[in-house]
Amino acid sequence: MCRLVIFTGTCTKCGEDQVWEDLTQELSCLQAKNNGIFGDCSNGVFQERHEFDQECDQCTEEDEGVGDSKDARKKAKTKS
Ligand SMILES: [Zn+2]
Ligand SMILES: [Zn+2]
Repeated sequence: MCRLVIFTGTCTKCGEDQVWEDLTQELSCLQAKNNGIFGDCSNGVFQERHEFDQECDQCTEEDEGVGDSKDARKKAKTKS
């Protein structure tokens, strides 16, 4: 039987429910491997869900995008 491991949880920052698609794992069994397609076997796919909390992509982007350093640099420029 193949296993589809799905990680779901909530963002530690905005609290939104999330499915962490980046972490999803498709684990093919031998039969599916031989067929070359995930889930292509007599037993089908077993979905495994795990709880996992982390910052969502949006919040991570905001952290990186909005920096105090940018404003500081601007101010420094106008002064000189
Ligand atoms: Zn399988
Ligand atoms: Zn978030």
